[in-house]
Amino acid sequence: MSQFDIFSADSSEQSPSKRAEELRAIINSADHAYYVEAHPIMSDREYDGMFRELQDLEQHDPTLLTPDSPTQRIGGSQLKEFVQVMHKKPMLSLANTYSEEEVRDFDERVTQGLDNPHHPYVCELKVDGVAISLHYRNGVLERAVTRGDGEIGDDVTANIKTIKELPLKIQHIPFEELNQEMEIRGEVYMENAAFLALNQAREEAGEKTYANPRNLTAGTLKQLNSKEVAKRPLKIVCYYLDGNSEKTNISHAENLIHLKTMGFPISQYSKRVDDIDAVSRFLNEWEYQRDQLPFGIDGIVIKVDSIPQQRILGTVARAPKWAIAYKYEALKAETILQDITFQIGRTGVVTPVAELEPVFLAGSTISRATLHNEDFILGLDIRISDTVIVEKGGDVIPKITGFIASKRHPDALKFSFPNLCPCPINSDLHHPEGEVHYLCMHPECPWQIRRRLEHFASRDAMNIEGLGEKVIDQFVELGLLHSIADIYSLQEKKDSIQSLDRWGLKSVDKLLESIEQSKNQPFRKVLFALGIRHIGEGMSKTLAQHFGSIEALQNADLNQLLEIKEVGNSIANSLIEFFKDEHEMSMLNTLKHADLCMSIDESEMAIRTDEFSGFSIVLTGELSALTRKEASEEIEKRGGKVTGSVSKKTTCLIAGEQAGSKLDKARELNIPILTEQDFLAVIQGTLPLTSFLGLP
Ligand SMILES: [Zn+2]
Repeated sequence: MSQFDIFSADSSEQSPSKRAEELRAIINSADHAYYVEAHPIMSDREYDGMFRELQDLEQHDPTLLTPDSPTQRIGGSQLKEFVQVMHKKPMLSLANTYSEEEVRDFDERVTQGLDNPHHPYVCELKVDGVAISLHYRNGVLERAVTRGDGEIGDDVTANIKTIKELPLKIQHIPFEELNQEMEIRGEVYMENAAFLALNQAREEAGEKTYANPRNLTAGTLKQLNSKEVAKRPLKIVCYYLDGNSEKTNISHAENLIHLKTMGFPISQYSKRVDDIDAVSRFLNEWEYQRDQLPFGIDGIVIKVDSIPQQRILGTVARAPKWAIAYKYEALKAETILQDITFQIGRTGVVTPVAELEPVFLAGSTISRATLHNEDFILGLDIRISDTVIVEKGGDVIPKITGFIASKRHPDALKFSFPNLCPCPINSDLHHPEGEVHYLCMHPECPWQIRRRLEHFASRDAMNIEGLGEKVIDQFVELGLLHSIADIYSLQEKKDSIQSLDRWGLKSVDKLLESIEQSKNQPFRKVLFALGIRHIGEGMSKTLAQHFGSIEALQNADLNQLLEIKEVGNSIANSLIEFFKDEHEMSMLNTLKHADLCMSIDESEMAIRTDEFSGFSIVLTGELSALTRKEASEEIEKRGGKVTGSVSKKTTCLIAGEQAGSKLDKARELNIPILTEQDFLAVIQGTLPLTSFLGLP
């Protein structure tokens, strides 16, 4: 019988709110016991029973759902975008050092700064993850914000709540002051094993894989759907406590103990040491042990332990003078360069790739690494059959950094870039003057076509759902697609598609429907989707606004193009070449006939005004009628500028629901504040913006 059976007995006699409170407490302690202490206090069955009971109670009476409820951990909220939040105290970044000598120099500066040789340090493993700031009020997690630029970050509370080892409500608060308000900082990360498993699953599903655990962690925190986040095993380690209390102003090591007392996961490897010699020993110990850890670290953080001493030392240029990050040298391995193969991008750029004899390095097996371009290979003078050095730095993307001369085979041939595209067409490769890349320019290069099709159909371009990498590969292989233009005649090939493996009437109809839908994508998206070299999303928008239509853009000469502030020679030349190219023009013609949007529509044209010219506008909170991106576009269309933070220069603030610090700041500075309704009235032309600004 477990110690909690007492709670499940006679639950019917309790009021639902009392029972919900009790269940929350029990489940939260069970989570802590399981995930932090690794000592389960109840069976899975008991746990699931209570969890479901709590879910039922909350479903029956939503007022019983509290922010600290463990049912929040399975996610559920789907956001349109993250609310940006200003950090109460900026999240500083640490200065990096790469040698022990520099660490000694740091120690000397600390001694001088304090005028005191006695200053113990705390050494911590620098976990390679994503920094986060957590705010607790009355012991309950209120908000979690990413580091962002150090001043402003994204509110990712719903995502952070899915991390089971993080307390949503603190059971034992060591002293009263912490009850009111405290900020805790930590690193969200993913263990190597979880990373490898997830990446493998993604690869099998034909999805993009991540380069390293940190990228996957960052990508996960950026998910707008917290249910998706809950599926990924994020972890957190906490390393900073600010509690507006004298007791938290004594020593960093003591604060770590306070964190532990409150149930926060802290690193078991942190160590308080007396002097710099002990710091050195710590660095050396971990130099050899770090690849035994279940997670990646890229160094050691060394902090002055005494908080009064930290204060004396202060900060310089947004970096504290009382702490430093010692970065380990990248991990290295030797392996054989078996071959150099080539990848072709959508603009025809040919990228050489090293095919390596698989080698295990820092948590993963490496069998390929990019060689970037010809200059990179010639610079290193690596040759096929060489024993090469592979390194994994802080970002874990494997890099080839050299070869072992003594192991070179005497017959090893110097690398030379092929003259022909390795694709089945074997067309000539071009090497444009002044560029490092070789390009396959053949309009029918099947490798390039696949990448172009993928780009065209991608979400930020034409957003054709169901036309992903796998489907494109299949269609190109079977000759159903030869170029972008073919997409809009797939309708005629409906029967052939339907008879293919894994296709049915329903899935074909769905695909054709989303192709039809894509015809509504605005001109700027079409322009981006064309995949013209050097023309990214931002540039497409600029060109669409400036010229208004494909004809006007096509007729622009070099000087007219260069008149645009953001357009330089490469962009201008790339546009001119595109419009000179026969194949591209016949593709463009087909797209025109398919009724794609080739100009900005009249309503867009009509409101391209300077109404907001010179205005600097800040958006905050959750908008309901528009997404943040749409609101920004409305402002930019009218010549206004959207900025991230409120200052004296801000013209006005548009505040949606649950606006936070930006709203406070705007009030403080007397900046005019508009509600979403006000803003809608302005963009619908009912009221001029100036009527809200106290201007004539
Ligand atoms: Zn080719």
